[in-house]
This record gives sequence, C-alpha cells and structure tokens, in this order.
Amino acid sequence: MGGQIIIIVDNVKKVIEDLSRLIGRDKVSNDPAVLALHNRDAAYLYGDSKIVVYPKTTDDIRKVVRYCYRNDIKIYPQGGSSELTGSSIAWEDGIIMSFIKMNRLLEYSPLDRYVVVEPGLRLVELNMVLEKDGYFFPIDPASVKSATVGGAINTGAGGLRGFRYGTMKDWVLGLEIVLPDEDATLLRIGSKTFKSREGYDLTRLIVGSEGTLAIVSKAVLKIMRKPGDIISIAAFFRDLHSLMKTVLNLLESGLDIVIMEFVDANTVEMVKNHKNISIGGSGHMLIIGCLARDSNREDIVNEIVRRIVVNGGENVLHAYNMEEAENRGIYSIRRGFYTTLIERASRETSNPILYIEDISVPPSRLPEVIKEIEEIIEAYGIPTGLAGHIGDGNLHPTMYITDPRDSEKLKRMGEEIMMVALKYDGVISSEHGIGLMKKNMLEKAFKYRASEKALELMYGIKKIFDPKNILNPGKVLP
Ligand SMILES: Cc1cc2nc3c(=O)[nH]c(=O)nc-3n(C[C@H](O)[C@H](O)[C@H](O)COP(=O)(O)OP(=O)(O)OC[C@H]3O[C@@H](n4cnc5c(N)ncnc54)[C@H](O)[C@@H]3O)c2cc1C
Repeated sequence: MGGQIIIIVDNVKKVIEDLSRLIGRDKVSNDPAVLALHNRDAAYLYGDSKIVVYPKTTDDIRKVVRYCYRNDIKIYPQGGSSELTGSSIAWEDGIIMSFIKMNRLLEYSPLDRYVVVEPGLRLVELNMVLEKDGYFFPIDPASVKSATVGGAINTGAGGLRGFRYGTMKDWVLGLEIVLPDEDATLLRIGSKTFKSREGYDLTRLIVGSEGTLAIVSKAVLKIMRKPGDIISIAAFFRDLHSLMKTVLNLLESGLDIVIMEFVDANTVEMVKNHKNISIGGSGHMLIIGCLARDSNREDIVNEIVRRIVVNGGENVLHAYNMEEAENRGIYSIRRGFYTTLIERASRETSNPILYIEDISVPPSRLPEVIKEIEEIIEAYGIPTGLAGHIGDGNLHPTMYITDPRDSEKLKRMGEEIMMVALKYDGVISSEHGIGLMKKNMLEKAFKYRASEKALELMYGIKKIFDPKNILNPGKVLP
C-alpha cells in the first residue's frame, strides 16, 4: 500500500495545540500514564503513540480526521483495547482515537427491537439497561466488561453464546461511519429495519474490518426479548471420542442449546491446580447451556444428563440458572483458563508473550483436529491451554512463552495449528481477527484455497475507503 509515514514525534507539541484548538484541550492527552494504558492490548503487544484524543461527538471525529488527512497523520481507533491480535495498537507513529467518552445510548425502541448507541458504550452497560425491561443483546465475549460496541463491531466479536446467536455481523443493522478522506465524509449505511436490501452490504463490510476502513461513530443494533433461564450442565469424559459423540448427539437433539464449551483434560488439571478449584472429576470437560422454562426444566436436565451418561460422561453437575451455575463453579474452569495462563506466565517474567489461537472447523471434524493439535502441543513443549466454543467448532489453543528467544518457535507452532484448521475446511480466525499477528497467515489461507485474488480485492477496497492509508495502517492486510 502507498501512504507516507509522517513522524509526529518531533512536532507533538504543535499537533496537540492544533487538535486542542479543534476539539478542546480536555479531549486531547499526552500524559505518559494515560498513554501507557492506551499503548498496549490484551495480548501484551505494545505501541508507542504520543497523543490520544477522546472525541465526544461525530463532529469531533470529523474535525480530527480532516486534520489528520491534511497532515498525513495516522489514526488508530480504539475501544477497550481488549483485542488479542494487536489490532488497536499504534505500532507506527500516529494518534490514538479512543471512544471511551463517547458512550451514550441514544435511542431505544423495544417495539422495533433496536437501539442506537455510540461506539464507546460497553456491552455489559448496554445489557444492564436492556435487562431492566426484559430485553437483551446476546453477543457476549468473555471480555464483556471491557469490550465496547465499536470494538466488538470491528473485531466481529462472538462469545459463549455464539453457537446460538452467531457473532456481531448478525446483530448490526446499520452504522454511521466517518471515512478517512479529505472531507471526513459522513455516511449512514444499513437501516433500523431487520430487512434491508440496498445494493452491496456495506454494513457487513465494516463489521470485522478492524478499524481499517472507517470510523464507526454510531451503531444501530438489533435487540431481542430475554429468553428464559439457561440451565447449565457440566461433565467429564475420559476420551475425546466419547465427548464428541455426546456433542454430536446433543446437536441433533432439537434441544434449545445456547452454550457448548470444551476444556481439554490437561488444561482442566492445570486450571484446577492453579485456582484451587474443588470440582470433582477429571478428563475432558464439556459444559452445556440450554434454554428452559420453569415448567420443563427438570425434564430438560434429565434429558441432557441421560445423553451425557449414555455416551460415557461422568461427574455430572447441573444448575437451573446462571446464578446457581456460577455459585456451583460450573463455569469456573472455562472462565479461569485464560487468567491461569497469564498468572503462570507472569510468575516467571514481567514480560510474558501470550498467543491465543482462534481457529474454527466444522464441528464434525473436531475429533481429528483436537487430536492433531494435542500432538503439536506435545511436540513443541510450549505451555498451552486448550479450550473453546465446541458447538460452533471454534477452538482457542492459548500458549505463552517467558523467553523472547522462543518467539519464532511460538510463531511456528501457531502456524502449524492454523494449517490444521485449513486442512479440515476451517478458518484461521473466527472472532478475534487478524490484526498484526496473522497477516502472513491470511495470505497463506487464500493461497491454500487457490483464491489469492480475494486478497487483491481487499487491497482495492482498502484503497477506496482510505486513499492515503492513514486509518489503522499495517493491520489485517499483509
Ligand atoms: C479475557 C478475554 C476474553 C475474550 N473473549 C472473547 C470472546 O469470547 N469472544 C470474542 O470475540 N472476543 C474475545 N476477546 C477479544 C476482545 O475482547 C473482543 O474482540 C472485543 O470485542 C474488543 O472490544 P474493544 O472495545 O476492547 O476493542 P479494541 O480492542 O479497542 O479494538 C478492537 C478493534 O476495533 C477497532 N475499533 C474500536 N473502536 C472502533 C470504532 N469506533 N471505529 C472503528 N474501529 C474501531 C480497533 O482499531 C481494533 O481494530 C477476549 C479478550 C480478552 C482479553
């Protein structure tokens, strides 16, 4: 891509003065402590921006974009910076545009089943409002407390309930976006209606674009009535084959399953020991969440337990709602998986490197895929946890190293895992995106499918949206 890199380090003072004049001094910061928070993400990648701006209105965004366009300054959009691939990091010089002060719920129409929100609203805050009236927004990355609407849209986030409700692309009806062009062009794409067919689907193009095409300044999200309680059931299996038989059996059962999570046997032991979790049972863990009403919940629990036990599941636990499930620790191993790895790594060094894989394959291919991944883990000897959203075939092998000299080895291991996904008709990224970390694998994935031209189309799209390559440059495309 073209695009000149302009170094603003030398003229930080002037840029701050200019931006302060445009949008107000209180919305511009170069405080080192503040910058330290914005210059890193959840995968422990670091950036080096000297300026962060906090727009409060679409007009603020447009003023900053026009200024940056004229002066060839890179802009890095950022929500909660909880992404795991480096996608929100200012890795070249430029300014961070943080949306955390642009976080209002602007419109709420239960009758029409939509909300209009600003990009910095956190998903957890949105649901706190909706739940009071019996509504909810179903996308629930495990990071809901940090994840903002703008960040979730741009990563194309999913989560535990993805098996039932899909990912962000299924819940964004429309967007207001600012283009990184001379006039900071404002566009309203999509609609407030569930059905909309107006030419090419630009809304879906922006979802998952990782802040590389446009800045999201408002979003229209679809909401739904909160369904009944979710009953939760956990069980342990001695072998993968029995666990997968249960999964496939449940997938065909017609039960209203919302959650289907998996943690492999070694990871179960690691998390239990590290967190002192006293749940009985060992082996591969399966967790099922299923919708139920008061009148049928006993029957549903019995039905699921029967299918689990017939297929070899043991040490079955159940709870009739999420609160009870949390109290009984049903999700504790699955939720504790990521922090266990971070804490173990941090005990050894203050600068661990974490790498979270995010592959998906059609669920029926999982037994072969998990077996091959376990062989890779064994061969590399890098500490790894293996868990994932098994109902939709999405696995998150998560590795850490404490010695930077092992980086190449870690990279090779990640690539081998992604090649397994490709071999079984899967994808190299499901909900976390490409960011900085998977750019070369994106190229390999298209090559693997003999579809290199797709990448050319993507470069063309980037060029049309961002002619000067000032918006989140160097991300996604190799
Ligand atoms: C412990 C943990 C668990 C996680 N679990 C999940 C999970 O289960 N499922 C899942 O999908 N993800 C998960 N994630 C990843 C991450 O939290 C999500 O992708 C989240 O949606 C990112 O939101 P954010 O506000 O932090 O975005 P950021 O990290 O700030 O940004 C993400 C991307 O969006 C862009 N962006 C942000 N705002 C805008 C905007 N207004 N306009 C244009 N571009 C913008 C950024 O440039 C960047 O490319 C997890 C992360 C952690 C640390």
